[in-house]
Amino acid sequence: MSIIIAIDGHSSCGKSTLAKGLAKALHYAYLDTGAMYRAVTLYFIDHHIDYNDPLAVEEALKQIAIHFERIDGKNHTFLNGQDVEHEIREMRVSEHVSPVSTISAVRRAMVAQQKAMGRRRGIVADGRDIGTVVFPDAELKIFLTADVDVRTSRRHLELAAKGIDAEWDDIRRNLIERDHIDSSRADSPLRRSDDAIVIDNTLLSEEQQLEQALKLATERMELQVSRQ
Ligand code: C5P
Repeated sequence: MSIIIAIDGHSSCGKSTLAKGLAKALHYAYLDTGAMYRAVTLYFIDHHIDYNDPLAVEEALKQIAIHFERIDGKNHTFLNGQDVEHEIREMRVSEHVSPVSTISAVRRAMVAQQKAMGRRRGIVADGRDIGTVVFPDAELKIFLTADVDVRTSRRHLELAAKGIDAEWDDIRRNLIERDHIDSSRADSPLRRSDDAIVIDNTLLSEEQQLEQALKLATERMELQVSRQ
């Protein structure tokens, strides 16, 4: 019995690591919703779109097509047919993605696409509004959090491994700023859904957090079967 697993939480607290681990173990699809907002932001930057101008945003959104492909077992984000997986992780995108994500027209376009991708269930999605807006009926909702210094160090390592150069202090400032904008925006703010289970992974290894989440997923799947 396939279910939907929604993972929300603060920036860089391991949501995608957990989501990918769950998707692999359960043979589910993985949906990286943050990558979609990053791709929109990259388009706005590269095409010099003033995202404070609603008409310019509406027009630009019509020109944007995002899809995902698996290449060598890894998820790649495509913007208008071009692989932008590397570029969307750069700091120049991280600096603008949260303001762009406050725009309702942008959210409407992304959420419609995300809902369509979840229609067949058997999906793990991570983001900020997954359990509250995108998949409010998800069988399992997890809200991840971790200490901000630990998150900064993890992000620093992750970017270095991808060959992206960024200062520790700049990363930390960006995480705090994004958390603030994401949590205080009017449209679909980051918040824990009442039925979400909180996992603080500050002191957990990747394996430990995956083990906890897999246990929860198995319980929810069994519950689904018993209800049939
Ligand atoms: O997940 P990631 O850190 O790559 O997301 C980048 C940004 O995209 C977040 O800081 C947030 O502003 C936005 N986002 C969002 N809603 C989502 C996923 C991401 O607003 N579902």
